[in-house]
Amino acid sequence: MGLFKSRKSYYIYDPNTLSYERVYLSFKDRVFVAVRHLSMGIVIAVVIYFTFTRFFDSPMEAQLRKENHLLQTQYEVLSLRMNESFSILNEIQQRDENLYRAIFQVESIPEAIRKAGVGGANRYEHLMTLSNPDLVVATTQKMDILKRQLYVQSNSLEELVNIGKTQEERLKCIPAIQPIANKELKRMASGYGMRIHPIYRIPKFHSGMDFSAPIGTDIYATGNGVVVFSGWKQNYGICITVDHGFGYQTLYGHMSKADARVGQKVTRGEVIGYVGNTGLSTGPHLHYEVIVRGRHDDPSKYYFMDLSPEEYEQMIQLAENHGQVMD
Ligand SMILES: [Zn+2]
Repeated sequence: MGLFKSRKSYYIYDPNTLSYERVYLSFKDRVFVAVRHLSMGIVIAVVIYFTFTRFFDSPMEAQLRKENHLLQTQYEVLSLRMNESFSILNEIQQRDENLYRAIFQVESIPEAIRKAGVGGANRYEHLMTLSNPDLVVATTQKMDILKRQLYVQSNSLEELVNIGKTQEERLKCIPAIQPIANKELKRMASGYGMRIHPIYRIPKFHSGMDFSAPIGTDIYATGNGVVVFSGWKQNYGICITVDHGFGYQTLYGHMSKADARVGQKVTRGEVIGYVGNTGLSTGPHLHYEVIVRGRHDDPSKYYFMDLSPEEYEQMIQLAENHGQVMD
């Protein structure tokens, strides 16, 4: 028995009549046939769909892919531009630190603050869900660091601008000459730093600079200021301290006579006393200290007004090589 169909009708072969008889399908059979056709169609559609989406982009996908690629390129360009900004900023930071701050004698900004990092690893967590998180996080992080460093730098320059405005006054006040007449640099006894103590014979920190000179030699105030101490001080003998403002003080020790009283205004080059041998001293000399914001500093850094660079070099050499302090 064979069943075959032509378009919408079904026929069955009847051996008795030797002919094909038309068969009328029941409703159930019709539904079955319809379902079978439908499911075949769905299977074919699914196969085609997956084949196409696997190998071909939809116009929207193609567009997105293009945009994504473009954005990635832009991020890379941005990253390169930021690197350029970093190197420019770095130059400004160097100049700020080594030139401007040195000229104005301003405390340096610690590296840790200058190179301000951005803390917190989970700061960029919200970006980690992106398709290319590494590039975006690295670029965002770079941008944040740049922003913070620029903030520090702009504050620093603002501070320097304000200092610049009072610079004329500062230049008059900051110690900038030698405390006694010493054009030939013959008077240096010993410089600042670790030295063998002349009396105790042990290495001891020498907090100032010694100028050997005959008793009675004039001692000058090295910058404008106000006398804040004048009298006898242990070890220092007859001694004067001048406050120059801007965080600077100078001290003059072992005098034979002080010639300025407390509260007196003094100007640079004015005689405030005379060389002596008072206090803990091994011979007539002036012990001279520069104190910056409460801490001793090397006085040889503060003679820039009466020494040429060559003379300055020579003085450093003399102070280094002459080990004998007079305290
Ligand atoms: Zn000394």
